[in-house]
Amino acid sequence: MSEKSGFHMTPEEFRRHGKAVVDWIADYYERIESYPVMSQAKPGEIRASLPKSAPQKGESFDAMLRDVEKLILPGITHWQSPNFFAFFPSNTSFPSIMGEMLSAGLGVQGMLWATSPACTELETHMLDWLVEMLDLPGKFLSTSTGGGVIQDTASNSSLCALLAARERATNYASNERGCDGKLVAYTSSQAHSSIEKAAKIAGIGSKNLRLIEVDEDFAMRPQLLAAQIQRDLAAGHTPCFVCATVGTTSSNGIDPVRAIGEICRAHKIWLHVDAAMSGTAALCPELRWIHEGLEFADSYCFNPHKWMFTNFDCDCFYVADRAALIRTMSVLPEYLRNKATESGAVIDYRDWHVQLGRRFRALKLWFVIRHYGIEGLRHHVRRHVELAQQFASWVREDSDFELAAPVPLNLICFRHRSGDATNQDILDRLNQSGALYLTHTKLDGKLTLRLCVGQTSTELPHVERAWSHIRQAARRGAYSS
Ligand SMILES: *Cc1c(COP(=O)(O)O)cnc(C)c1O
Repeated sequence: MSEKSGFHMTPEEFRRHGKAVVDWIADYYERIESYPVMSQAKPGEIRASLPKSAPQKGESFDAMLRDVEKLILPGITHWQSPNFFAFFPSNTSFPSIMGEMLSAGLGVQGMLWATSPACTELETHMLDWLVEMLDLPGKFLSTSTGGGVIQDTASNSSLCALLAARERATNYASNERGCDGKLVAYTSSQAHSSIEKAAKIAGIGSKNLRLIEVDEDFAMRPQLLAAQIQRDLAAGHTPCFVCATVGTTSSNGIDPVRAIGEICRAHKIWLHVDAAMSGTAALCPELRWIHEGLEFADSYCFNPHKWMFTNFDCDCFYVADRAALIRTMSVLPEYLRNKATESGAVIDYRDWHVQLGRRFRALKLWFVIRHYGIEGLRHHVRRHVELAQQFASWVREDSDFELAAPVPLNLICFRHRSGDATNQDILDRLNQSGALYLTHTKLDGKLTLRLCVGQTSTELPHVERAWSHIRQAARRGAYSS
């Protein structure tokens, strides 16, 4: 312990250890394919390797980094492996990681404009850039009636959208009266589970969330939505919110946003569009059809932390009428009062989401966009879509396998023709082999394998090897017909 720093690490020590961490991360990416993609750790195994109690005396940083290697890596599922095809990607890139480092280094708390103007203004600017980059409706620009904000997740964006919808439908009076049990919300049977969670949290209740059936492409049927709204109105309910999904998690279904939007507009219902993974595709003009009708939306979100090389967490949430959102979320205790807020000339993002405190997340987005440029981002998204389409064509040509859903973008839902047990067996074998990581879903009541191409470094050889492993796993089980 030195006089000057007490127990703290000195800048000089940080310089040394920090460089070792950067080296460690770079090495990790170079050897990432040598690890089993899915962690093979058993429940409790990682904890059992840790000391029972915290150390009395501080330890050396070298010992900590060694323990990351020895104790932590065995319990890591390698999300950044090019052989990771499970769930949806949560990809990252070196520019993003460095933005995250700087954000941690600055240690800024951006709850108000006044608590760090650059944190707010860079964020507003990045979200305006993205409106142009994805060709989103102009009303989502901060210079129009709306604007965007970075949230931690799509789940929280959808919750905020539902809260604003609830307030708008009750003339902002639900906080005086309480929820009366009459409000109803709608989404498709294929929507993400976060919509049900939002309905629970917002006081709508999962019972009052109507799950509208989908067509053979797993997209919401607008006629059924219209009919359900009519039934609810006749029964004295107040329809307040519809969530359409662009790229459902199970099947990459794309809801017809325009037809749904026309229904919402006729009934003055808030339309939220959840494009968590698939929204990124709109970087490419030829894929922008996924957003057809988005001008009807009151709110929209997508996750750069899924498919846009920006490490978790980073969800972009847009509203067409920021006043509705702010009126819903705003509270102003004395200790947060300040001149800038009162002047009305600044954005205070604390009024745009649930929590007060917020990290400087726009930095990593800024770095990613500047490093790749729009061209670079488009190149990689196109490549992923191309690889997925190639994989889909192999499935189509193989008589043992079938596609279980259309493949509009980068997710392939497919299955072996001989039934659930076979598919479960293929999945278990592959994931235990460590060569790749796939997950499953149920479509039309049948166990279905999902392969999503979206990792930063996934290339043709990885996808070819995945297909070859899948076919081998099917053969080893002697299931091939
Ligand atoms: C992944 C996903 C979500 C949840 O994303 P979080 O950001 O983790 O909350 C919601 N909706 C869809 C369509 C998704 O694909």
